[in-house]
Amino acid sequence: MSCKHSKPYVLWLFVCLGLFFSIFLLPPAHALPARVTVQLFTFLPRIDKVVISGRCRLVPPSGNAVFGAASPVVFSQDPKNNSRIILGASSRQSNRQNSRGALCRQAFYLDTDNLPVQIKVLGPDGVSKTARYAGSLKIYATAGGIAIQNRLPIKQYLAAVVGSECPPGFSQSSLKAQAVLATNVLHQALKNSSDGCIPDSTQLQSFGGLDHANSRTIAAVDAVFPRMLCDQSTGQPIEVYYSSTCAGGTSDALKIFGSAHNASPISSKRGGVPCTYCQASPFYKPQIYTIDRYALQGKLGYQPMSIEARDERGRPLKIKIQTAPASVHDIKTISGYAFWLDLGKALGWGKIPGNLYDMRTDNANFIFTSRGCGHGVGFCQWGGEGLALKKGFHYQRMLYYYFPRTKIKD
Ligand SMILES: [Zn+2]
Repeated sequence: MSCKHSKPYVLWLFVCLGLFFSIFLLPPAHALPARVTVQLFTFLPRIDKVVISGRCRLVPPSGNAVFGAASPVVFSQDPKNNSRIILGASSRQSNRQNSRGALCRQAFYLDTDNLPVQIKVLGPDGVSKTARYAGSLKIYATAGGIAIQNRLPIKQYLAAVVGSECPPGFSQSSLKAQAVLATNVLHQALKNSSDGCIPDSTQLQSFGGLDHANSRTIAAVDAVFPRMLCDQSTGQPIEVYYSSTCAGGTSDALKIFGSAHNASPISSKRGGVPCTYCQASPFYKPQIYTIDRYALQGKLGYQPMSIEARDERGRPLKIKIQTAPASVHDIKTISGYAFWLDLGKALGWGKIPGNLYDMRTDNANFIFTSRGCGHGVGFCQWGGEGLALKKGFHYQRMLYYYFPRTKIKD
């Protein structure tokens, strides 16, 4: 009799144990790592020289000696100025004196013991950039130049991203919303990355170093981490996009970015929303840019002809272009977003700041009128701030407005 009755108890015991392990011991399906690795200064075409100022030490593995290898980097210390200088192949030829007595390796590993160091990089044509970083650094030779990776705690990374991406003076609610979005973007990038390393540029999201983190961005990350925006029905983190100012409404990701972004069916299902809350943005008003038509053609490598289709917000979807003069066979269409990116690369990113643009010609010029700033898909940063200030929205409500059918989850 006791045997008969013990079976259900044993079964219940297993069920309870199973629940305990799944709830309390197993990590969630979208667990984030404690530290992230970021490729620094990816917006520069090449790095020839690196100068690190501040306390840091060489740590193993310090790389094997590679005298005679194609493009090792040379490391030297300048104790007088408390700095380390790393030279790439092209820079070494003009700085022979710096190479004397220095170490020559394929890669160097340094640790700052969590204290910030200043890193100055020099590229071709005298371009230089300086920023502060902390954590582990890997500095290594690439074909013709130098590359730098920084490994740092995830919350430190996110606090600097929030400070890099949000205009100064934004409310704490906006900073929290940005922290959640930055976590989603990071999660997606790590999922797509083959080596676990993410770029520091706006190609993903901007990480400008420790000077962009402050007590307010650190508090925002502390308040929301590790929450992410998840699909209401599947519970999985969604692929998010954000830009500065939509100037009237956001657009559907699939329509703007095209099928290349169709890899994530969750994001492609989300359409845009109306938004007039970004009126305080300096980019809300139309910006006009005029350029000589032949100069533009020379910079683009083709001649834009007309805007053939727009979405419901007015963002161009199809642009007719002519790739060779006087040949009707060379007329084709490209996406409005691809054309806007081409304009940014050719003319500089500030000239036509919004992907909501019009194009007309007179005899001599192309005249572009753009509204907003950025691609206009997903979260509108100035709109979120407007919702916080005018309607008292907290960060969750702000995110749910721009991303319907989502849930913020740990
Ligand atoms: Zn907006």
